[in-house]
Amino acid sequence: MKDRLEELRTEGLQALGAASSLSSLKASEVQLLGKKGALTTLLKGVGALPPEERPLIGQLANQVKKAFAEKVASVSTALKEAQIAAELDSAGFDSTLPSAPLTLGGAHPVQVITRELEDLFLSMGFRVADGPEVELEANNFDALNIPADHPARESHDTIWVQEAAGETPGLCMRTHTSPVQIRTLREAGAPLRVIAPGRVFRQETQDATHDHTFHQMEGLVVDRGVGVPQMLHAMNAMIEGVFGKHLKTRIRPGYFPFVEPGFELDAQCPFCEAGCSVCKGSRWIELIGCGLVHPKVLKKSGVDPDIYSGFAFGVGLSRLAMLRYGIRDVRWMLGGSISFLSQFSE
Ligand SMILES: [Zn+2]
Repeated sequence: MKDRLEELRTEGLQALGAASSLSSLKASEVQLLGKKGALTTLLKGVGALPPEERPLIGQLANQVKKAFAEKVASVSTALKEAQIAAELDSAGFDSTLPSAPLTLGGAHPVQVITRELEDLFLSMGFRVADGPEVELEANNFDALNIPADHPARESHDTIWVQEAAGETPGLCMRTHTSPVQIRTLREAGAPLRVIAPGRVFRQETQDATHDHTFHQMEGLVVDRGVGVPQMLHAMNAMIEGVFGKHLKTRIRPGYFPFVEPGFELDAQCPFCEAGCSVCKGSRWIELIGCGLVHPKVLKKSGVDPDIYSGFAFGVGLSRLAMLRYGIRDVRWMLGGSISFLSQFSE
């Protein structure tokens, strides 16, 4: 009986190990362990053994049963894995290949500059203000000392909003972010430090340097005793923030109806030592329009110009981004080209 059990163990393990599919494995398992299986049949003879031999044979039979069960489990696992591998292989799937890279979005170059400047000015005690893109003519022009007959209006190429019956008359797409300084000054009063970044609109024919929509940032400081030195300090800090280094600046007289005196501020070209295509060989680039707030503008916003003075500035955020990243065509900024924009993703 003992020899027969040992023999069955060897034959059984061999049969189970040779199974080439899950169904043939199942068949071998039934042949060995089923109700009419070889082991079951063999054990039926235990009753005929002398009593002293029965425990030993019973123990051995359990060992054989356990060995068969373990073999069935291991062969079954191996067959299942082989089956999955074969299926993946036939589908041309290689699980060891690296996954396709995830395409992550990034900030638009104008957004990068805007955020940096917001952080910079917030650190200097400014607040960030927002205003509507469809603006009252009165805020876009009149309150900024640009009355209806003023020649400066012509240079703005305004997009007017058609008036529906009963709606507020005199609406336009804001041509600059300057009306936000009017809104904020009226609401908050003096003293005030504010920047207002945002989109502005002009009726322009598009070319490499003109677009109908672009980004600007307006700044305004109103306080007692504010003058040109404070203005220059803020402008130099802004330029250093954008270009990451101190650049020499110079101011020239400039005309903006809402400041008096007004200036054009140029910075030394950050890209060359002796002239390049960006500065057109002049070593200077025009960056900022600025000046001391016109007393009429203060008065129109309810601030007493005998007590307070201030400075205002406007800078093209689109232009700063183009300068910093060497972008040659302003139309790319809002063109929505993924291949252009993906260069700036982080
Ligand atoms: Zn240059």
